[in-house]
Amino acid sequence: MRNRASKYQERIYALIQGAGNHMTAEEVWEKAKKIDASIGIATVYRQLNRLAAQKKILRIRDQDQGYIYDGNGIPHHHFHCRICGSYRDLPLDYSETLDRQIERMTGAIVESHQTIFEGICQHCKELM
Ligand SMILES: [Zn+2]
Ligand SMILES: [Zn+2]
Repeated sequence: MRNRASKYQERIYALIQGAGNHMTAEEVWEKAKKIDASIGIATVYRQLNRLAAQKKILRIRDQDQGYIYDGNGIPHHHFHCRICGSYRDLPLDYSETLDRQIERMTGAIVESHQTIFEGICQHCKELM
């Protein structure tokens, strides 16, 4: 049986799903409202966090913007522009070997890791 929450989750997932989508909860909410005007921001947050817990999407902690939700749930690396705040996926190999190496080093369980390269994106660079 499909309940209301799972219907919302499917809709929100459909909005953000896909590589190259990096959005704040507010941005997802703006899109969601166009489909269903009754949807609240709290629902959007709840469903995004649930999708992240299920590893369907990723969550990036951003200093200025709070959480950024990433429509690509497969662990990958990013370039972050400190001027416009955009995130870009980087086609670098993701090293599971590194995760296991850190586990041996620390005795911890490593679930994933993420490298964020900081700087000025090409677009902002051209405006300088
Ligand atoms: Zn930029
Ligand atoms: Zn990404």
